Order: sequence, then C-alpha cells, then structure tokens
Amino acid sequence: MRYLITGGAGFIGSNLCDALIQQGEEVVIIDDLSTGSLDNITHLLDNQNFQYHNNTILNHRVMDHLIRECDAVIHLAAAVGVKYVLENPLSSIETNIRGTEIALELANRYKKRILIASTSEVYGKHTHAPLKEDDNVIYGPPSTMRWSYAAAKLIDEFTALAYHRTKKLQVVIVRCFNTIGPRQTGLYGMVLPRFIQQALRDEPLTVYGDGSQTRTFTYVGDVVEALLRLIHCDAAVGEVVNVGGQEEIPIRELAERTIALTGSKSEIMLVPYSQVYGRDFEDMMRRVPSLEKLERLTGFRPETDLDTMLTKTIEYFRSKSN
Ligand code: UDP
Repeated sequence: MRYLITGGAGFIGSNLCDALIQQGEEVVIIDDLSTGSLDNITHLLDNQNFQYHNNTILNHRVMDHLIRECDAVIHLAAAVGVKYVLENPLSSIETNIRGTEIALELANRYKKRILIASTSEVYGKHTHAPLKEDDNVIYGPPSTMRWSYAAAKLIDEFTALAYHRTKKLQVVIVRCFNTIGPRQTGLYGMVLPRFIQQALRDEPLTVYGDGSQTRTFTYVGDVVEALLRLIHCDAAVGEVVNVGGQEEIPIRELAERTIALTGSKSEIMLVPYSQVYGRDFEDMMRRVPSLEKLERLTGFRPETDLDTMLTKTIEYFRSKSN
C-alpha cells in the first residue's frame, strides 16, 4: 500500500515513516521543513520504498499529483507548538486551515481515505478529566492569540466531518494529546525536550507559572501504533478519536523527574507566563484524555509508562549531543 504522509519529516511523521517502511509499505512524504527536519529522514532517503517531496501542502498542483497516486493520506503537516504559533500567527492559520482544506478537497476528488491529525488543544481550558470526544469546547477571549490554534484545528475537524457527511469521504480525525519521544525538538516551545536539554547542560529548568498545571504524555511509538490502527479501522470513519497517555503529572514534577533521571545539577526556576508569551497566552491547567473510544475501536491504548518515555527521550538527546 502507498501512504502519503504530509509533514513526514516532523517528529511524529518521521517515526510513522520508520514504522511503515519496516512493514514493507511504500511511503511518500511532503514536507517544507518549516518545523520538520531532514535529519529525521536522512536514513530513509536511499530506500526504494521511500519518496521525499520538499514542498508545501499549500501547493495545490503537487498535492493533486501526490494524492492521486497514493492509496491513503495521513495528514500531519501543520504549524505546531505554542511558541511557533504565537510567533507566526498568520502563516500558522493559513497552513492549518488552507492546508487541510486542500488535503480534504483532493482526497475527496480521488476518493482516498484520509486521517486528519487534530489536537487536544481543541478542548480548550477545561479542568475536568477525562476529556471525552463529545465534550464542549471552552476558549478564552479571541484577543488572546493562543486560541487561534485551537479554533483553526476545530475548523479542520468541522471541514473533515462535513466532507464525510455530504460527500461520504472516508475521514478519521485524531485528537493527539501531548506526544513525546525521540526527534521532538524544543525549538517551538514543547516542554520535555526543553527540560531535557536544560538538564543535560546543568541549566535551570524553566517551569512556567507555578508548575501545578498538569499534562498526560504519550510515547511517540504508541501514537504511531494508534494512527495505523485507526486509519485501517472502518468503524473510525467519520469519527473523532482521542490518542493520549494515562499518567497525569504536574509540570513541576515533570521537571523534578527529568532532573533525577538525568542526574543533573540543575535547579527549577519558576517563570511567569507573561515573561514568556506576553499578553497572548493563557495556559490550560489540565489535560487528560478519555481513551475509551480509542480502545473500543482499535483494541489498543497507549501503555508506555512515563519513566520509560523519559528515559528513552533522554537517551536520544544524550546520543545527539555526543
Ligand atoms: N512549559 C514549561 N516550561 C517550558 C515549556 C513549557 O513549564 O519550558 C509548560 C507549558 O506552560 C504547559 C506545559 O509545559 O503548561 C506543556 O507545554 P507544551 O508547550 O509542551 O504543550 P501544550 O500542552 O501547552 O500544548
């Protein structure tokens, strides 16, 4: 089977490429390296089952060709990372809305099944747990630019569902919660790669706010497994499905565990949000997925425990710095 993976040189995308190539599948990717990296796929470039197109998903002509020639599309390309989205608000909205619209329009033209990666951001600022796929969304004021990311991804979800309802397009929508593991970069604000790199340099770990906000983390290998099961699951067509981890942890404790596991001499430094993001920011205090639907549809739920994820990611950063 030939898969088109948009954003295939990114963190999740490149791990997905590895899994598919290992299974003997054909993989075609399109990535403009805006947040992805050639380093993530260099080892695949000589593989005859792998094809890389350095281009943007906004290029309709190229996307038309790639979607026509594939059997299924996994659409991961997006502007991601709170820091990146706040620094590039206009291009982020354009990539996230127009890019997905192009992918859906062409998947519909050629009647190809398409998986759309959405995000737990769409839930907004809930404090209850766990978050179920049909929960309300709660956003802050529209003057706070952070919410543009959630709003754009929510439009992607609506557009995908509308294609399904009106054109019978086979779409699967996945809401990814915080994913961690090898190849994630700290350049766009994501917390764990930043903490690990700070710890390995014995620099202070920058915990934003008071660090009581919690997250659940999913190992990238588990996310890849979930995506592959979901794209082949007929019952998931036309559905929105959470993919996330189970162990809820306050960010301050994540910093402490990172220090312990790296054996670092770092200390923790509390940094006010306003100092990092200015007025455009409001954090989400809690984010825990319900995994019932994922398990009911696929028989799978991510099980990798947090210490294993941290250890593997630390190993990755250690090997990169050598
Ligand atoms: N965070 C932090 N220090 C950092 C980067 C992030 O304390 O250097 C916090 C951030 O405020 C949030 C959590 O870690 O509460 C997760 O942030 P990330 O950007 O990785 O993902 P988010 O869940 O916000 O999309």
